Amino acid sequence: MDLNKIPIVDHHAHPLSRAAATTGAETFRQWFTESTDPEIHHRHVPNVLFFRTAIRWLAEALDCAPTLEDVLEARAGIPYESWTRTLFEQANIQLLLCDYGYSGQQVFSHKEMKALLPCEVRPILRLETLAEDLIRRHNTFEDMVEDFVQHIRKARSDGYAALKSIIAYRSGLAIAPPAKKPARRAFDATKAEAAQNRRFRLTDKPLCDYLVWLAVQESEHQQLPLQFHTGFGDQDADLLRANPLHLRSVIENSRAPIVLLHAGWPYYREAAHLAALYPHVWLDLSLAIPFATVGIPAMIRDVLGMAPFSKVMFATDAFTMPEIYWLAARWGRWGLGRVLEEMVDDTFLDADEAYEAARQLLSENALELYGVE
Ligand SMILES: [Zn+2]
Repeated sequence: MDLNKIPIVDHHAHPLSRAAATTGAETFRQWFTESTDPEIHHRHVPNVLFFRTAIRWLAEALDCAPTLEDVLEARAGIPYESWTRTLFEQANIQLLLCDYGYSGQQVFSHKEMKALLPCEVRPILRLETLAEDLIRRHNTFEDMVEDFVQHIRKARSDGYAALKSIIAYRSGLAIAPPAKKPARRAFDATKAEAAQNRRFRLTDKPLCDYLVWLAVQESEHQQLPLQFHTGFGDQDADLLRANPLHLRSVIENSRAPIVLLHAGWPYYREAAHLAALYPHVWLDLSLAIPFATVGIPAMIRDVLGMAPFSKVMFATDAFTMPEIYWLAARWGRWGLGRVLEEMVDDTFLDADEAYEAARQLLSENALELYGVE
């Protein structure tokens, strides 16, 4: 089943970095793992399937030998802008919703991303990054909260397509019911910490929980989708606290349109169950695609065995290098195509139904949920 003609609405991704950030062997290799350990990057990434296959596929695209050195040399010989365009056009990515909260020195701004890419780009508002900024800027809890809510209220008119929370990384997904007093108490200490530490991260649980609840209420009110990081991710995510089942009380007590990112991997059965039960919960497959590689069909099989096709969405969660978006698109279309073909072979679906399901997952569900053109 050839899914290349179906454009991708990449509803969860991050910005690219400048070419110079990924020209060396180490700086290229490090993006093929979620580990931040240099020994993993150096010794073990060469033995990671995602990396091995990437070199093979990129060597074909660049018409060079399938070694890291040859691939790096060949890509360095093409202007970064045109190489990026080629990869995005081949990936057939039509629209990118971009979370700029993930940052570094060499990361492109929204304006630069729009100029660089051959597709539409819309920003996502990351709640914890916004809160950190406002904690620095305001002297009282009340002022900070007021400004936080105002930012979310005008998110749509400011061009944001969605909200996103990384509370899974900070204090975990077991979000307590809204409680103002402990949140206010936490504000002073948090503010003092922010003043002392330039790399301050908001991690206080009562404050994180309170702010996310405010965002959930606004998301419900505006029907503005709220993406939650669930499951695996960077090394600082504690997987035990990132199981999407922890979100039950938020899901039960609101009608906010909630997107469970990364299929909650490895908790994708749990995530599929939630998307199957609740009309306002959607399931995203990003990051697990491409990182789960040959495990992708098993995940998609389990997810589509349980959750409605109308509730599951493909995305890349790609970042830093244009190759990652291209690889994610290829792994994703392969995995989805393989599972849908099986369903046709087993006479569970006919070919037209299978192709329509692919259209739903790759673009239509996201277009409808985010209400974007
Ligand atoms: Zn992400």
